[in-house]
Amino acid sequence: MTSIAYTAGLHQIADGCWAWLQPDGGWGLSNAGLLDGDGESLLVDTQFDLARTRRMLAAMAPVTAGSPIRHAVNTHGNGDHCYGNELLDPAVRIWAAPEASAHLQAESPQLLSTLMGLDMDPGLSDYLRRSFGAFDFTGIRSRLPDADVTADTELSVGSRTVRLLRCGPAHTHGDVAVFDPASGVVFTGDLLFIGGTPIMWAGPASSWIAALQRLLALDADTYVPGHGPVTGAAGVREVIEYLAHVEAGAAELHARGRTVRQAAAELDLGRFAGWGNPERLVINIDSCYRHLDPAHPAPDVVSLFTLMAGWPG
Ligand SMILES: [Zn+2]
Repeated sequence: MTSIAYTAGLHQIADGCWAWLQPDGGWGLSNAGLLDGDGESLLVDTQFDLARTRRMLAAMAPVTAGSPIRHAVNTHGNGDHCYGNELLDPAVRIWAAPEASAHLQAESPQLLSTLMGLDMDPGLSDYLRRSFGAFDFTGIRSRLPDADVTADTELSVGSRTVRLLRCGPAHTHGDVAVFDPASGVVFTGDLLFIGGTPIMWAGPASSWIAALQRLLALDADTYVPGHGPVTGAAGVREVIEYLAHVEAGAAELHARGRTVRQAAAELDLGRFAGWGNPERLVINIDSCYRHLDPAHPAPDVVSLFTLMAGWPG
């Protein structure tokens, strides 16, 4: 794999293949991709707000002037990969897992602004403002995907044949990776966080690990994560190791009767402690607990963010 600088903007990573990168890859700072099929192109993901999506589409204009975007994929339903959908031409067909469309429909762009505006625990307000204050959610209308990825799907994009791979449940209930065999590039969405802590909204960890092993078996040269720098197989293996480490630690702490908060404070992250947003461990332990014990309550975003704001306390 050729090494790609981790700087903000559009980077050509292979022939006809680009990655849009947003250091440092923290909350909402998502990557995206563009595949040029000579005469038409495919966009992988939009951005968290309209200004960021406009900036990305403008940077892609030298390519899309000759190869307009005719196809798009939302790798999953989190807003930082979909909230810019309305800026795509109405004729663009947007592909996503049906679970991702349902997620996008359920989570309005205004939810975070509402949360940030509420009078709550000061630690939580401060955490939300630090994490999401740089984004502008006003006036966004969610445009839902129009084509379901219910199984692996081959898509013709001009001269290219691209594979949409249904993965998981893993990061969410509806994750899709985009594989371009011609260039050996995989756009993984949030199946990969590199240099930052992965978030397991859905899980189980074993299913996410299986999805990553499948992506490794593609033997691709280049993996573009949903957040963080472009990587190779070694980066995929690191995320597998993190997930296995948390899964084993959570099982042990659950058996010892620890609450999610206690487990997140006690679990030794070892060499993963230096990854960005280590407090996401709270979400990951909560997910592991749900899979260990069906009676564990469904995730409640406000209490999870409150625990993260106070982590490791
Ligand atoms: Zn994301």
